[in-house]
Amino acid sequence: MRRVGTSRARIVFELQRLVRGGLGFVVSAVFLVLLWLGWFPDLRLPGTGYGRAAAAAVLTVVLAGKIGARVRTSERRRTPRREAFSDAELALLLLTSVYVVLAISGGVGSPVYPLVYAVVSFLVTFHRLAVGVPVAAAAIGFEAVLSFSPAVSPEAAASFPEHVGFIIIFGMLNVVFLHAEVDRQRREHRRRLEEEVASMREEAREFRLIATALSPDKNVRTRAEEEQKISQGSVETIHQQLFDTLDLLKHVMDLHTVAVLWLNESGDRLKVKELCTDSEEISETPIPAPSGVMGAILKDKKPLILDSPRPALLPYYAAPTPVTAFIGVPVCEGLTPRGVLVADRRNGVPFTVADAETLTSAARQVVRVVQSERVFHAVERSKHEHERFYRASSELNRALTLDQVYDAAIAGARGVCDFDFAAIATYDAVRGTHTIHRAVGEWSEALEGTSHRDPSSIVAMVVKNKLALPAGGEWRERDVPVFSRPMRIKGDSLLVLPLLVKDEVIGTFSVAAKRPAAFPGDRREMLGVIANQVAISLQNARMYQIVEEQATTDGLTGLVNHRTFQERFAAMLGRAERHHFPVSMILTDIDHFKKINDTYGHPTGDEVLRRVAAILGASARKIDIVARYGGEEFAIVLESTDRAGARNLAERIRAEIEQQSFQSGKGAFGATISLGVACFPEDATQKADIIARADQSLYAAKHGGRNRAVCYADTVRASKPLKAVK
Ligand code: GH3
Ligand code: MG
Ligand code: MG
Repeated sequence: MRRVGTSRARIVFELQRLVRGGLGFVVSAVFLVLLWLGWFPDLRLPGTGYGRAAAAAVLTVVLAGKIGARVRTSERRRTPRREAFSDAELALLLLTSVYVVLAISGGVGSPVYPLVYAVVSFLVTFHRLAVGVPVAAAAIGFEAVLSFSPAVSPEAAASFPEHVGFIIIFGMLNVVFLHAEVDRQRREHRRRLEEEVASMREEAREFRLIATALSPDKNVRTRAEEEQKISQGSVETIHQQLFDTLDLLKHVMDLHTVAVLWLNESGDRLKVKELCTDSEEISETPIPAPSGVMGAILKDKKPLILDSPRPALLPYYAAPTPVTAFIGVPVCEGLTPRGVLVADRRNGVPFTVADAETLTSAARQVVRVVQSERVFHAVERSKHEHERFYRASSELNRALTLDQVYDAAIAGARGVCDFDFAAIATYDAVRGTHTIHRAVGEWSEALEGTSHRDPSSIVAMVVKNKLALPAGGEWRERDVPVFSRPMRIKGDSLLVLPLLVKDEVIGTFSVAAKRPAAFPGDRREMLGVIANQVAISLQNARMYQIVEEQATTDGLTGLVNHRTFQERFAAMLGRAERHHFPVSMILTDIDHFKKINDTYGHPTGDEVLRRVAAILGASARKIDIVARYGGEEFAIVLESTDRAGARNLAERIRAEIEQQSFQSGKGAFGATISLGVACFPEDATQKADIIARADQSLYAAKHGGRNRAVCYADTVRASKPLKAVK
């Protein structure tokens, strides 16, 4: 409960608040009154109380300054309104001081009078109009006080219209020109500030200081694209750094050509990787590595200096290029040769042992560049992998329904590796069947939705061994089917992962690719992690589905329960109204069911309910609603079905149930049901009315002797319900 203070305390509080919040206004008002009373006499007139006037003026200015400073530094969080309020307060204080100074320096005829125009112009220009206009009005008020006060000579009033006119003109001019200009500058300033912030963000993103927002669907690069992009970045960095090193060597050592020749993967060819040269004749074709000068350098792993070599000895030139000196040093990573760093001169200066040492250090530098780029590449890759994993994991965590889990699983796997086919199947341990719920890729259409029970299949082995197969992701045994014999998937790489929940396999996740070695060790590990997460999410989604089903279906019959019936019926009527199609409702009730219960026992009664429910369920289409309406009452709502159609179906159901034979401890027995039909829009348009009409029809059917179907129209047409055609 809110406590309310006594009214006196409240008034005092409110007054305090008012004074604290607007002391400037109060002070201005007081000074206005004092000005009117002539409390600030003209110092220029003889016999004036100089002391009092001067003291009063000083006091005014000091007071105004003090209050002004307090208002400015006030710690309160300012709202725009509050801000305008304190701006006005400050402006008024300034104006008050000006008029007090005017009063003691000769009133409206004061030599410092232009100060008023200056101050008004200033205040109007630098404040919003909501503050500037009232301040200009206040200046006119002060002007009036100073002109018409009984304390001043009557001539003072003569200049009033002129002064007011000037105040207005100054104010207007400032509003029109300066105010607009100040406003423009303010906007310009804000725009520049925003641009600056935006460009800083952009740059940070380019330097990868800020992660770009991950969009969950489009614009997602595939794993291969991502790899290519990272590699490209690394390769460019390597080239740039190599070039910088070579460029430095060329200038410092006064070289004609300096180049890094790199060995290919098999180690039998050398190719110019980067170079810095004055020659136009550098060879683009690979050089045989084991032979000639290069072969010797690679073999001995030592620098080699040649004076005036024959042009044929230098295979990195496409055309014979005479040089006066050549030097080559091996580029080794540990003990493994990676290439040769070659340099030559045409200026007649031979290479020395010191040059060989310089180039050997440069060769080490070359290796370091490549190594550090390799590390960078690995770090970059792992960063992306983390992102991918994070995304896959959070998508899987978010997935509520089974469909969402399947989608998130495929998307997650795609983030980790490129595949041509993927499938998620669940495993039914009781029946031993694998059911493919989602398949993507070339062979997917024929597979999705199918079930398989081939104990020799790879999925069966994966379930049995609880291990991913085939080992190494290499698809060697082509005779073994993945799911079952008729459905062969062709490719070179395959991996079927178990979906494990607490050591129990609930399904499999298969990926296949046409190219060989699509799933190397690290990819397999990542897929394993994703499969584990998929398994957990799948289990959660199943639980979610069970809870959902429990909330919407009836436990005994498996039909939709009353609440869900009402919701779906309302939704269907909404659609029917929008798209103008008929809807019919059939309400059924088992005849003399109490007797069945009493005679054969409740469990038998339950069996009858289940059988009737099954017949009703089987006679309706997928789009229809079949619900357990109450104890032994069922409702069917038929979409796009008119009275004739509903009557037909009701009659068919009635006949089928009449033919049923139920077993009990006391022998076989039969049962019948009565049905009432009401149609939208002929019989009623509101849901409650349609149900009521169906109920009325059902009552008529009971009244008419049971074991019959009655339409609402029949009950209206005849006071006595018509017997349905049998
Ligand atoms: P009428 O032909 O007029 O419909 O006669 P009736 O005996 O079927 O009358 P009523 O519809 O009032 O009887 C409903 C009975 O259905 C009463 C109740 O014991 C029985 N019942 C309701 N729910 C269940 C159930 O889940 N299982 C079983 N076995 N009986 C149920
Ligand atoms: Mg009943
Ligand atoms: Mg009944």
